[in-house]
Amino acid sequence: MSVKAVHARQIFDSRGNPTVEVDLVTAKGLFRAAVPSGASTGVHEAVELRDGDKSKYLGKGVSKAVENVIKTLGPALIDSGIKVTDQKAVDELLLKTDGSKNKGNLGANAILGVSIAAAKAGAAEKGIPLYAHIAELSGVKAPYILPVPCMNVINGGSHAGNALAFQEFMIAPVGAKDFDEAMQMGTETYHALKTVIKKKYGIDATNVGDEGGFAPNVSGAEESLDLLVTAMANAGYEGKVKILLDVASSEFYKDGKYDLDFKNPNSDQSKWITGQQLADYYHSLVEKYPIISIEDPFDQDDWEAWKAFTAKTKIQVVGDDLTVTNPERIKTAIEQKSCNGLLLKVNQIGSITESIEASTMAHGGGWHVMTSHRSGETEDTTIADIAVGLGCGQIKTGAPCRSERVAKYNQLIRIQDELKVAGTEFKYAGSSAFA
Ligand code: PGA
Ligand code: ZN
Repeated sequence: MSVKAVHARQIFDSRGNPTVEVDLVTAKGLFRAAVPSGASTGVHEAVELRDGDKSKYLGKGVSKAVENVIKTLGPALIDSGIKVTDQKAVDELLLKTDGSKNKGNLGANAILGVSIAAAKAGAAEKGIPLYAHIAELSGVKAPYILPVPCMNVINGGSHAGNALAFQEFMIAPVGAKDFDEAMQMGTETYHALKTVIKKKYGIDATNVGDEGGFAPNVSGAEESLDLLVTAMANAGYEGKVKILLDVASSEFYKDGKYDLDFKNPNSDQSKWITGQQLADYYHSLVEKYPIISIEDPFDQDDWEAWKAFTAKTKIQVVGDDLTVTNPERIKTAIEQKSCNGLLLKVNQIGSITESIEASTMAHGGGWHVMTSHRSGETEDTTIADIAVGLGCGQIKTGAPCRSERVAKYNQLIRIQDELKVAGTEFKYAGSSAFA
């Protein structure tokens, strides 16, 4: 079944910034997709087209991207007669219509909106859930794998107004028996953390950051990690819940050094540290705390530091700004052994087909894959289906707080329930997701 109509509009993300929403119509109905947006974006990401007119929305309007869907991408797709079940052909056409390498002509936000809406229409055409359609498109075989929810419960970096340099402190219930129990462990630990923070710093320290995690004004990583360890023990999940970090260090890489005080306008340059010193710090943290994964430990172009750290550590090292869900950069990172895990963000690359390619390539290189939200999100839950469809085993979509975050976890609860009711075989990834 081909596409009958495509429409787009500007809506708002969880930070109150404009973003693109696409409606795609086939004989099966109307299929809607909304595009997320990052704050600590990598310089190598596909282009997110913003109007730049400072008199409106601080220059962040997306009217041009919306127009590109309505006037260019939509008509091209309708005229082509391509079937929505053929996601590859849909995406190839979108890419060809844009014609640039980085999607800078029409915007990755315009292209991705159409690509996701087409995938939803494709699933409906086949009469199967979106995750099943994505599994078919990517050749991922049964049983379905429910991912470990990696919940960002302490927010720092560019996502919070505290002094903390590291961006994300996540808890991962690897010891749960299924996704429901993982959510129980995660939410109970989150509430235990709130109690610990309130007791230590007062009620105003329990305000949340962009991804729903708490943002207390802690002095550094160790103070945050101590809070997590206490919360995990208080909730009764010691050993069952592990810790992951996203340092997002490209945000504080300056003149070849790392500035852990980057949010202080009077940061003392003599205290900035080298990649080697930062690596030593990570090794000491891994020794002391139950950390099983570190994302973006080094700057997006500090390839040597990545390679040296990955060779030495036993934990998962995840590329986000380094690899930007881009098959070309992933290939280089696999060859150079720069990391051993991929953060998969569909809007970094801008289409479903290329996201599948990125995941397939990472899995082929022996890496694990973590599907990810952006810090600016919407109520769209597609990434939950992507995580299951691609058999990722890991997903990060914020704390179990703020509906744009919880929406994805709730979708995973629905998927597991659906599989149970249908008697379809599935398993919870658990600790195998990090082995
Ligand atoms: P972003 O943060 O969406 O602001 O880029 C998420 C991340 O760095 O993983
Ligand atoms: Zn990241």
